Amino acid sequence: MAEVAPAQARPGDAVLVLVHGATLPPTGTLAGRPLRFWPAGEGRWLAVAPLPTETPPGPATVGVLADDFPLTPALEIEPPAFSSTTLSIPPKFLEPPAAARRRMALDQAAISRAYDRPFGPPLVGGRFRLPLDVEPSGRFGDRRVYNGKTEGVHYGLDLPSPSGTPVVAGADGEVVLARDCYMSGKTVLLAHGAGVFSASLHLSRIDVKVGQAVSGGQLIGRVGTTGRSTGPHLHWGVKVDGLWVDPRSAIRLDFTGGDAERMTPPDAPAGDAAASPAPLPLPGPLPGPLPGPLPLPSGPPPPAADGSAAPPR
Ligand SMILES: [Zn+2]
Repeated sequence: MAEVAPAQARPGDAVLVLVHGATLPPTGTLAGRPLRFWPAGEGRWLAVAPLPTETPPGPATVGVLADDFPLTPALEIEPPAFSSTTLSIPPKFLEPPAAARRRMALDQAAISRAYDRPFGPPLVGGRFRLPLDVEPSGRFGDRRVYNGKTEGVHYGLDLPSPSGTPVVAGADGEVVLARDCYMSGKTVLLAHGAGVFSASLHLSRIDVKVGQAVSGGQLIGRVGTTGRSTGPHLHWGVKVDGLWVDPRSAIRLDFTGGDAERMTPPDAPAGDAAASPAPLPLPGPLPGPLPGPLPLPSGPPPPAADGSAAPPR
């Protein structure tokens, strides 16, 4: 059988697909995108998939082929409720001068190389954690209007904190980029396996090197306001299979499949629900506008057609 966890999600969320009782690696699609499964125990297979931000509300199309048997696990898409914000940023970040454009091209080449990784099982030993435990000041999916004209979508979570605050790895992984980029400032990109990456932007200091293995919770850098940023904060992005997803949805996922185990019907084996770790507390609804300087215009330009856009700003 196959199931999606959670079975209700919003556009921009990441979800898990669990198949059990299959001998061979399953194949399938979710919202029109191919699924890539990894083995997760006897007869069990898992895949993690992003829901594009433009996914329409209602039942999503999920199709899985397990040992030649077609399965159609349910997934209901809820309305996204994205908001819109207007921000002011220095013109050099809206219309970068020629020298900056050359630098951005080099940044983009380095970022593309960093993403070029073979698919394998996740290094995440369970769940992601927030790299900085504060209330977000900017959320995923916010529509942003810069200087009254340029529009963008915010593809990450803004976590406001004073410069120098430690930033930790959200999960076990490998450093694939540690670079001072024009737009995203000092940037650390971690590969977590299974096509999952996390990005920490605008750092004041980078404390890791490319190729280094890191553990969830390990220091990777310090909060700053480098690149296109209006004040100290961490922009944290999570990318799944080439699409940025809401990091809060990634934190909900148990990459061992524990969530899905709890969702199995009563006639299935009891599973390890009692032994599964409790989900991390999620940030609640945001308070009103924050006092002090604007948290940050961290929105990137519209994504590239292939969805592999430059990192979030
Ligand atoms: Zn941001």
